[in-house]
Amino acid sequence: MYRTHTNGELSAENIGQEVTLSGWVQKARDKGFIVWVDLRDRYGITQLVFDEERTPKEMMKQAQKLGREFVIQITGDVIERESKNPNMPTGDIEILVKKVTVLNESLTPPFTIENETDGGEDLRMKYRYLDIRRNPVRENLIFRHKVSMAVRNYLSEQGFVDVETPYLIKSTPEGARDFVVPSRMNEGQFYALPQSPQTFKQLLMVGGLDKYFQIVKCFRDEDLRADRQPEFTQIDCEMAFVEQEDILNMFEGLTRHLLKEINGIEIGEFPRMQYDDAMRLYGNDKPDIRFGMQFGVLNKVAQHKDFGVFNNAELVIGIAVPGGNKYTRKEIDTLINWIKRPQVGALGMIYSRCNDDGSFKSSVDKFYDQDDLAKWAEGTGAKTGDLVCVLSGETNKVRAQMSALRMHLASELGLRKADEFAPLWVVDFPLLELDEETGHYHAMHHPFTSPKPGQLELLDSNPGEVKANAYDLVLNGNEIGGGSIRIHDKKTQAIMLKHLGFSDEEARAQFGFLMDAFEYGAPPHGGIAFGLDRLVAILGGQETIRDFIAFPKNNSGRDVMIDAPAPLDQAQLTELNLAVTLPKK
Ligand code: ASP
Repeated sequence: MYRTHTNGELSAENIGQEVTLSGWVQKARDKGFIVWVDLRDRYGITQLVFDEERTPKEMMKQAQKLGREFVIQITGDVIERESKNPNMPTGDIEILVKKVTVLNESLTPPFTIENETDGGEDLRMKYRYLDIRRNPVRENLIFRHKVSMAVRNYLSEQGFVDVETPYLIKSTPEGARDFVVPSRMNEGQFYALPQSPQTFKQLLMVGGLDKYFQIVKCFRDEDLRADRQPEFTQIDCEMAFVEQEDILNMFEGLTRHLLKEINGIEIGEFPRMQYDDAMRLYGNDKPDIRFGMQFGVLNKVAQHKDFGVFNNAELVIGIAVPGGNKYTRKEIDTLINWIKRPQVGALGMIYSRCNDDGSFKSSVDKFYDQDDLAKWAEGTGAKTGDLVCVLSGETNKVRAQMSALRMHLASELGLRKADEFAPLWVVDFPLLELDEETGHYHAMHHPFTSPKPGQLELLDSNPGEVKANAYDLVLNGNEIGGGSIRIHDKKTQAIMLKHLGFSDEEARAQFGFLMDAFEYGAPPHGGIAFGLDRLVAILGGQETIRDFIAFPKNNSGRDVMIDAPAPLDQAQLTELNLAVTLPKK
């Protein structure tokens, strides 16, 4: 038996008992006549003691040789500590060691296995197994486990059935590139890894399963913008015989359950916002509603003077920055430079200070008088002491820029509190989205999303106006879930695919199986998928999903520990009928 107890459970109650413990040497302090060793495992740390008076000489020597991260097993007696440590659960006791066995030695680890480590991100990822020994990483993984267990229990209690769907499939368009897997047995053919189990979960509904869920890996070959992973985990769900309202209620229930179970927070009914309003008021389809700073449209009160920048703009919008008048000129310049960076792309920013005496001081005083500026304040809801920031330009662009500015300022002002949770349903998304580059429409959610009743006809005349039965669940400015009520008849699905630019043959080749299924009594159905990685990070009050993934990939999609991806050897390539053609360097 390797251990009678873990390193986190012994207390004064155990004094006098003989115990056997196993674990890693966190650190050893050698005073010559006495050696203390902190023995660590997942459950905690227990202090071991060897001393000249009570420990045989040989064992004393053995203790002095124990290095950091050695794996050892000891047997000894639980004794009362002379100087107790009230900050440690096991701080009242120590173990007077009678026998020590080194189970495995360790090289000196490349970084310290402490809460605050000296190891940089790359090093920690290369030796992730050592990183996982650190408390914060281990705690995050256990936290994730708790969230996924709470999800499983809740959904199972609601009658959902956990069904696995295949990973080797045919491409399902969810807006990203596929990862593909060559098939050895089917020469020249490829599987695609699922961007999501979308079509399979719909087929499970055709199969009559009624309520499906799966905590499942999805794969999307996207450029890894901040904090994305090429493989990520979804809580994927589908229900039959439901309308949008049923789905919203069910998954609001799940989210409320998680917030209560995991964070101890009770939240009432989630607010709902139309997509159009989210864009109008926040410039964003996933607004963080923990703070105000809604956009005010200022066209009327800014386009009546001689200021060409505003006069030529499609949209002039402002936000009130609470207490923003305290910003110095220099700080405002920094802000302006921030929004002029290519990532945000604004050409500049106009501002107006709301002074304590009720007057205003703007960067365009030449053009606008106090009455005008008072209207800007009114239009943005600015109060004395606030700063009104104004941007102008083409509607979509200026909204996106203002949204970025709003979030940046809110972070700076500490308005995005990690322990405050503001869920929000965003509903009534457009069905289609215009790709500015190609001029083609593509599905905003995915091609299986149904249009709002009666709007199918609009597809021909005004495709951009058609609204979908699609919804997103937003938490603190992050999209944590999204889904839709699906098309469940062949005719509508065919019309949809045609509008997305699929010829009949292409539609048949790619989605024939689904459209065939729709001809055998497909029930009305709909669903949702939550991004588990992000959800866990937010519930855990942290920013990066990587911290909650045991073996994450870096920003170039590499696993630096196993060194993947990697070239294949020629034999493997030949077997797969593959030739690698790389541009000559
Ligand atoms: N498959 C969708 C996604 O991954 C979710 C859904 O429509 O249920 O975003």
